[in-house]
Amino acid sequence: MPVSFHTDRDSLIWPWTSDGVYLVRSAYQILANDSLLSQAGSSNPDDSKPLWNGIWKLKVPNKVKHFMWQAANESLPTKCNLCARHVLLESSCGLCEEFPKDVIHCLWLCDHVKCIWLSDQTFHYPRTRKFRCFGDLVSFVLSELPSGTAALFSMEFTDVQDTPVRSAIPRVEARWKPPSAGLFKINFNGAVFADRSLAGLGIVIRDEFGLIIVTLSQKIPLPSSVELVEALAARCALIFAQEINIFKAEVEGDSLKVIQIPIVEAICLGGLL
Ligand SMILES: [Zn+2]
Repeated sequence: MPVSFHTDRDSLIWPWTSDGVYLVRSAYQILANDSLLSQAGSSNPDDSKPLWNGIWKLKVPNKVKHFMWQAANESLPTKCNLCARHVLLESSCGLCEEFPKDVIHCLWLCDHVKCIWLSDQTFHYPRTRKFRCFGDLVSFVLSELPSGTAALFSMEFTDVQDTPVRSAIPRVEARWKPPSAGLFKINFNGAVFADRSLAGLGIVIRDEFGLIIVTLSQKIPLPSSVELVEALAARCALIFAQEINIFKAEVEGDSLKVIQIPIVEAICLGGLL
C-alpha cells in the first residue's frame, strides 16, 4: 500500500459507495450478488435465456408457459421455499415424508407423481436420467425431446388438475346488469377447493349505478355437496346485507337450483326484498 505524503487523519472508507459512506443497501447488494454468483447455472441471466426462449416457443397456453418458467426457476411456493423464507419450519414432503419438497420432488421425483409419468411411454426416456433441479429437467426436455413431446410434458401439469366440480351445476346464463333504481344488487358465489377440503363464499353488493359498495369472502369447511356451497353463499349474502342495513336488493347467483330453493325465499321474507 503506498504511503500518503499528506498529513490528513486516517478515516474509514466504505469502498462500495460513491461517497465512501457505508449504506446497508450497498452491503445487501454485495451479499446478494455473491449469493447469485455462488449458485450454479441458471442463476446467471444469460444462461437462463435459452431456457426461457425454449419455454416461450412451446405451443401451449401462456399460463402453462408461466408455470413452467416459475417451476424451472424454483420460484413456486414449495415447502423448501417456504422454509427458506421462515414461513414453515420443516420442508419434508407431506405425501412420501421422505424428501425435502422442492420443485423437482413435487413434480417429478415423488413416488406419488412418478405413476403419472410412468403411465405414458413418451416420458420413459427422461426418467432414465438424473436431474439436479427442475430447471435441468426442463432444459433436457426442450433440447432432447421433439417439440410436440415437450409441449405434452408441459401440458401434463394442467391435465392432471381436477376438472372443476362447479361445471356440473346448472347455471343461469346471463350478463350482469345493474339493479333497478333505488335497489342494491347482491351477487353471491361459492367455490370448491376439494384438495384442501375447503369451500369459499364470495359476496359483492353494488348500488343502482353498479358501483361496488361492499364485498365479503369467507372460507368454510367443505360441505357435502356443491349445491350446498352455493346455498350457504346465498344465505351468507342475505345475512350480510341485513347486517349492513341493506333491505331493498336484488339477489343474483349463478346456480339456478339455489336461486329457486326455499332458503332464499325464507330469508327474503325475513326482511330483505
Ligand atoms: Zn414426496
